[in-house]
Amino acid sequence: QADRDSETKKQNEEKKSKKKLLRTEKVPEEIVQQTRSLPIYALKHQLIELVKNNQFVIILGETGSGKSTQIPQYIAEAGLVQDGTKIGITQPRRVAAKSLAQRVSTEMGVKLGSYVGFAVRFESCLSSKTVIKYMTDGLLVKDCVEGDSNLDSYSVVMIDEAHDRSIHTDVAFGLLKRTARCRPDLKVIISSATLEFEKLSTFFNDAPVFNISGKSFDVQVLYQPCTNYMTYMTSTILTIHRKRTAGDILVFLTGQDEIEKVYDELSAISESKVAQKALELQLMVVPCHASLPFEDQQKIFLSTPEGFRKIVLATNIAETSITIDGIGFVIDCGFVKERRYNHCTGIETLVTVPITKFQAIQRKGRAGRTQPGQCLRMYSKEQYDRFKQATQPDIQRSNVEFVILDLLAMGVDNPLKFEFIDPPPPEAVGEALLNLQLLSAVDEYLKITQLGRQMVRYPLDPPLAKVLLTSAELGCSTDVLRIVSVLSTQHQYLFIRDKRRSKEIEQIKQRFFAPEGDHLTFLAICNEWTDSNYDENWCTENFIQYRILAEAEDIKFHLASIMIKNNLLTDNGDDIVTCGQAELRDNICKAFTSGYFANLAKKMATFAYQKLSYGATEERIYLHPSGSLFKKQPLPNLIIFHEVMKTSKPFIIGAVVTKAHWIKEYSPKFYKKLQEKFPLFFE
Ligand code: ADP
Repeated sequence: QADRDSETKKQNEEKKSKKKLLRTEKVPEEIVQQTRSLPIYALKHQLIELVKNNQFVIILGETGSGKSTQIPQYIAEAGLVQDGTKIGITQPRRVAAKSLAQRVSTEMGVKLGSYVGFAVRFESCLSSKTVIKYMTDGLLVKDCVEGDSNLDSYSVVMIDEAHDRSIHTDVAFGLLKRTARCRPDLKVIISSATLEFEKLSTFFNDAPVFNISGKSFDVQVLYQPCTNYMTYMTSTILTIHRKRTAGDILVFLTGQDEIEKVYDELSAISESKVAQKALELQLMVVPCHASLPFEDQQKIFLSTPEGFRKIVLATNIAETSITIDGIGFVIDCGFVKERRYNHCTGIETLVTVPITKFQAIQRKGRAGRTQPGQCLRMYSKEQYDRFKQATQPDIQRSNVEFVILDLLAMGVDNPLKFEFIDPPPPEAVGEALLNLQLLSAVDEYLKITQLGRQMVRYPLDPPLAKVLLTSAELGCSTDVLRIVSVLSTQHQYLFIRDKRRSKEIEQIKQRFFAPEGDHLTFLAICNEWTDSNYDENWCTENFIQYRILAEAEDIKFHLASIMIKNNLLTDNGDDIVTCGQAELRDNICKAFTSGYFANLAKKMATFAYQKLSYGATEERIYLHPSGSLFKKQPLPNLIIFHEVMKTSKPFIIGAVVTKAHWIKEYSPKFYKKLQEKFPLFFE
């Protein structure tokens, strides 16, 4: 009888969950077959049993074994998602969240945004029917901050790509462990591609580890050390292309610049009939990096047409977050771009560093998924042996201001006691608390202030959120909002770069350059673009990336809706108070000073500034040649900047003029500390 009862219960559960899933589209047979052939398919029932019987489950499996696309479907199908709730699957990258949602909706035969949806910063595609929600890990944390502190809207949370160890992933780990104590019904799945499972299992109360051993083929490793891999990249790709008979080529490079360079070189060959004739197969070159528009990113998944070989030029995004089928050859440059924050100088830098052994193995593995493959490493075996085992988690090399503010907003009174799997260095937490105090987001007792609570409502770094709030007082919100939105995109690529037309581009850029610096230049561009009726041709004529302005426009809309909700803008999105035209430009600079006073620099020599900080270290930083102030004479004495990017030199990105008395007005404490250190300067 008990067995029969449980069978009936099971059938009812299945019926109930099926009821919600109304297929509206036809699922191509090819996709059905593809999903059934994934390594995870045979383990479906075992996996479900394990999840049913445990609150935490760790899942290990090679990239491409089906973790991200299949597990959520299995969970939903098994009726483990309670009515009115969801399964949330977090991804460290927005691209992955969106593309997975798209893929899974196709696999399930539903429209994107109905049963399956996604939410990433500034964009979402969800409905009341959504059961499977792909999202960035940052948004899960924001859900907690914004009131769903027990994650009641979720029955199951899956932290995918856990090996990535992004800051938000680490915060989500701690949050889930905390929430699970008061939500025994909440199921937590952690999925990872590494073998570093013991630490994860121990952290999650000795959670069981489920291993999906995917089938993979042998990959032969070849070493071809060279001093500058970029010099040889295109010729290496072509040599392999000529020699290899089957399989696409995946090339790992460090960033957009390198990808574009190789792309241009390969395209020139594709376009030249003579050169193309010498090749048996035609080239289908596909770039793959985080700042590509979504539609272009999707091209990575297109199957290679007959007579072509696909060559994917990718950043580390293709290591684990995106699975590309049919790769037979991998070229690994051996480097990756990494952001590092120095909490002593307050400067964040983007450095190109050697990859880790784990990354090298992952990159190699991309070649052996569907056939035996080869991996060409453009470094020596000795260099490989010197690679570190694994990357240091982001949280230990980043600015943690926003994490600390989020934790305080969630009621974690002592962020040092928050259960991190790897805590940030205590000095970094101390520094973040101090900076938050200077921003008036935290009071002298280290409690979050009213202003701090207003700041966490915006999906922005605390200084940028503060800028928006100040702009409302200064009557320049609509303009500041446009600038903040541009700053939230990949604004360093706003102007199209084309070496062949650099003179022409330079002339056009000059037309927009504002004497107060880059932020007002952005505003000038946005205003002219609006006057052109958001015309794409206007962008092309002015060498401006249309997609960046279009993205900024979406972000503006999103941020404006939060400001309207909080009565900082009228219902139509206009300023509630407005300042006069005469003081507008000053007020915009002032608003930015209110958030970025700590990024203060004083003129030293031509193009060189010194970052003024009350701490021990002063860094010399330089105006970037592409910035608005680079050619300005005389250079402004005092500037604040958005960030410093250390490439060949520490370059200032996003500079705005400021005045000492504005600093005094917006952060008297910071001003006082500086005055003590630089008495002459502030006389
Ligand atoms: P894992 O999470 O284990 O890395 P996934 O579930 O992401 O694996 O991928 C399983 C398979 O689904 C891949 O091999 C690929 O064939 C397919 N796939 C995943 N995402 C997409 C997509 N956006 N478009 C087309 N196919 C995809």
